[in-house]
Amino acid sequence: MTAKKGRRKHIPQRTCVVCRRTFPKRELNRIIRSPEGDVRYDPTGKAAGRGAYLCNDLACWEKAVTGNFLDRALKIKLTPAHRAALQAELERRKAQQDQTSDNG
Ligand SMILES: [Zn+2]
Repeated sequence: MTAKKGRRKHIPQRTCVVCRRTFPKRELNRIIRSPEGDVRYDPTGKAAGRGAYLCNDLACWEKAVTGNFLDRALKIKLTPAHRAALQAELERRKAQQDQTSDNG
């Protein structure tokens, strides 16, 4: 009998700041506070700044846009402009989901 353990790749896990569920980092959406104090969605996941993560559940996005989850996670007061930018990203995702669910 070999005691060799299967070598699993370590997958970094992150927590959605709204629902607190953990996911592999690549399945989450990164929101950053840039060094300039801007808050925005970071599609590359590589932008400099403090990051907070949201899962793909649009209910979490809704709560993130309207609530204080990101304020707390990023330690910044979100401005209406920040919220508008996130709302725009949310709307884009909603439109995308409508398309995919209607694809058949
Ligand atoms: Zn979530």
